[in-house]
Amino acid sequence: MLRPDAKAAAVGNAVDQDRLWDLLMRLAEIGALENGGVNRQALTELDTEAKNFVIEWARARGFSAFQDDAANLFVRMPGAAASQDPLIVGSHLDSQPTGGKFDGAFGVLAGLEVLESIRQQGLTPERPIEVAAWTNEEASRFLPGATGSSAFAGTRELSAVLDNRTVDGARVGDELAASIAATRAELRPIHSVRPCASLEIHIEQGPILEQAGLPVGIVKGIQGVRRIQVEILGETAHAGTTQQALRKDALDGAARIMVSLRSLTKDYDDILRLTFGRIDSFPNSPGTVTGKVRLTIDLRHPDKAVMDKVEGLIREVAPAQAHPCRTEVRVLSTVDPIAFDPSIIGLLENCANMMNASGPLMLSGAGHDSLHLGRICPTGMVFVACEGGISHHEAENAKPFDLALGTRVLAAAAWTLANR
Ligand SMILES: [Zn+2]
Repeated sequence: MLRPDAKAAAVGNAVDQDRLWDLLMRLAEIGALENGGVNRQALTELDTEAKNFVIEWARARGFSAFQDDAANLFVRMPGAAASQDPLIVGSHLDSQPTGGKFDGAFGVLAGLEVLESIRQQGLTPERPIEVAAWTNEEASRFLPGATGSSAFAGTRELSAVLDNRTVDGARVGDELAASIAATRAELRPIHSVRPCASLEIHIEQGPILEQAGLPVGIVKGIQGVRRIQVEILGETAHAGTTQQALRKDALDGAARIMVSLRSLTKDYDDILRLTFGRIDSFPNSPGTVTGKVRLTIDLRHPDKAVMDKVEGLIREVAPAQAHPCRTEVRVLSTVDPIAFDPSIIGLLENCANMMNASGPLMLSGAGHDSLHLGRICPTGMVFVACEGGISHHEAENAKPFDLALGTRVLAAAAWTLANR
């Protein structure tokens, strides 16, 4: 069992609420929107400006900064044992087009506040600590999401992403090269660093903590996401002359599939998430019986076995309900759920107790960079309450006290892991 010691407590207590808040507000000026949010999408000039802001912060305190082939940025606090694998504390600086000030940015700046707290105590950790800003977690400007952390963890090859296009038509490989050239940090190969462990702090982006009146939660895992496409193949026909009994109406079939799946997957614990987010209907003409429908289903659950079971159900229900239309079911993409390392969860709980932040265990409904880091090293996450559970919105907000309290838990855990 990993327990924080007196130095971990000192580091946690050195976290400065005003200093952290001030840093958050200064970063939020980069890409600031009128209604209080930010538009700082991945690999834009504003994203690079945010990275250079972090690099200047590091330089002013004598820390070095590195970037890798995926334009991930790292601020490094050296350890007494320089050759040891570093602890990584990170999140992302990119935002949605109408994003908030805290999603991602808080995780990076809280990491800087951890370094500042250690420095102020005059301490040197055994292992190096690196604060990471991962590229394109949001996937608002180009796919795939978590480009940087997935390439770093090797869960996805960076080369497979380079020819993707941004929404504004640029080639991702060219945008990466331009961002790296404009970022004032030394380049190092992406797989030259293996973290000993990884931590991330993030606003909850949901209402659970606020509703419970609790500022800080400990994340036990992240649910998986599977996109499944059901193609329903009927026959186009005249809407006025074709008898109902003779029709092969693909949209009717889609409707029956959706109603049937909704009732068959009713989850009284409300953990399963099944969303019929997209219907492409052909020819999509009011006077014509629909010949073909592409229904895209988004399926999320923390247990892979349940995801497999629901996928099996979709494969059974689709042909049965769409009859006399034919159906084809394909998995478009899948990300398995992750359960975080029990030793890190235990440490974060101990740190939360020490900092008087009763941190309940909770699941993350949204994906995060830690999903990828968790595949290569012991990983954990801390959540902080956000106002109304609102995120990916300009109104996104969190309390300075809660942000600082979460950062205290993060700092105590980081110190403990860097000295293990
Ligand atoms: Zn985020």
